[in-house]
Amino acid sequence: MIISDRTDKSKYSNVWVVAELLSGKIQPVTHELLGAARSLAAMRSSQVWAVVMGSGIAEQTHSLFAFGADKVIVVDDIRLSGFIDEIEASIMVRLIEKYKPEILIGAATARGRALIPRIAVKTNCGLTADCTELGIDPENGDLLQTRPAFGGNIMATIRCSNHRPQMATVRPRVMKALEPDFSRSGEIIRENVQDSDALKIKRIVEIFHSDQATVNLGDAQIIIAGGRGVKGPAGFEILRKFAAEVGGAVGASRAAVDAGWIPYSYQVGQTGQTVQTKVYIACGISGQIQHLVGMQSCEVIIAIDKNPDTPMMQIADIAVVGDLFEVIPEIITNLASN
Ligand SMILES: Cc1cc2nc3c(=O)[nH]c(=O)nc-3n(C[C@H](O)[C@H](O)[C@H](O)COP(=O)(O)OP(=O)(O)OC[C@H]3O[C@@H](n4cnc5c(N)ncnc54)[C@H](O)[C@@H]3O)c2cc1C
Repeated sequence: MIISDRTDKSKYSNVWVVAELLSGKIQPVTHELLGAARSLAAMRSSQVWAVVMGSGIAEQTHSLFAFGADKVIVVDDIRLSGFIDEIEASIMVRLIEKYKPEILIGAATARGRALIPRIAVKTNCGLTADCTELGIDPENGDLLQTRPAFGGNIMATIRCSNHRPQMATVRPRVMKALEPDFSRSGEIIRENVQDSDALKIKRIVEIFHSDQATVNLGDAQIIIAGGRGVKGPAGFEILRKFAAEVGGAVGASRAAVDAGWIPYSYQVGQTGQTVQTKVYIACGISGQIQHLVGMQSCEVIIAIDKNPDTPMMQIADIAVVGDLFEVIPEIITNLASN
C-alpha cells in the first residue's frame, strides 16, 4: 500500500522511536534509542516522539519522557496484548500518514525485525538494519545510517534521500541512554485500533487458539515440516499422512503459514517455535536463516527438495533431490508394506 507522496520532504519533521515492549514492559533499548533520537532531533531542530503500542501500557509513558521523548503516541488496546507484526505495521502506517515523521528508528530485536521492515515496505521507504551509528548530513539533513558491510570488513554509510520517513534499526546496547530526568513531561497523544485492524486480530487470534492446544512440536521426536513447495492445504494432507505413518508431528515454514495453508502454531523458526527433535524432515523448504534458527539443532535433518542447492539441502544429513509429491507417497507405500 503506497499512500501519499513521500518525496515532498518539507512535509516531514521530527524523529520517532518505536518503543520495544517485552511482556508489556518497555525495554531498555527504547531508552537507548531515545538518547540517539535526541541528538538527531537537535541537529534537525525538531522533536523526539515515541510510539508505544500494547495493552495496559498507558502508565509507562513517564519513563519515555524521562529518557528524552517530547511527545508520546499511545495505542493502548487489550487486543494488542500479543505482538502481531501485521497489525502493528498497519497502525504505524496510519500514524506516519497522519503525523509525517522525518526519521523513524526501532530496535533490531526479533520484534523490531518483524515490524519495521513491514512498515518500510508498506510506505515504500528505505530501511537500514542494524546501524551502529546515526548522524545527520549538515548539507541536506539526510539521515546518515552507518552499519558494517561485507562481513564486517567495511563500514557503509547509507542514506535514503528520496523518500520520507527514513528508517533504521539499531541493536540493543549499541546506543547510549541519556541520564533519565523524571521531572520531564510532555504531550500524550492517544490513538485507537481501528475496526479493520480488530477484524484482522480476531481472525489471527482465532486461528492461533483453534490449534494451540493440539500442536506441541516441542514434545515430538519426528517432525515432518512443509514449506512453499507443498503448494497448498492438500499438500499438507500428504505430510499429515506421512507424520501419522512415522508417529511424528507436522511443522511448517512461515511461507506456508503466511499463505494460509496451515495455522501459525505450526510455524518453526525465528518468529515461530524452536524445535530440537531427533529427526526433522523438511519438505519443500529452502532453508532461509529465519527457518534454520528454529530447527538446526535437530539430531538428523532430512531434506526433500527439487533444488539440490538450497541452504536446507546443504545442511541436511540426508538430501533427497526430487518432487515431494512423488517421493513422499513412495516412502509411505514402503513404510506401509514393511
Ligand atoms: C523477520 C522475519 C522473520 C521470519 N521468521 C520466519 C520463521 O519463523 N520461520 C520461517 O520459516 N520463515 C521465517 N521468515 C521467512 C523466511 O525468510 C523465508 O521467506 C521462508 O522461510 C521461506 O519459506 P519456504 O522455504 O517454505 O519457501 P521458499 O523459500 O519459497 O522455498 C520453497 C522450496 O520448495 C522447493 N519446491 C518447490 N516445489 C517443490 C516440489 N514439488 N518438490 C520438492 N521441492 C519443491 C523449492 O525448490 C524451494 O527450495 C522470516 C522472515 C523475516 C523477514
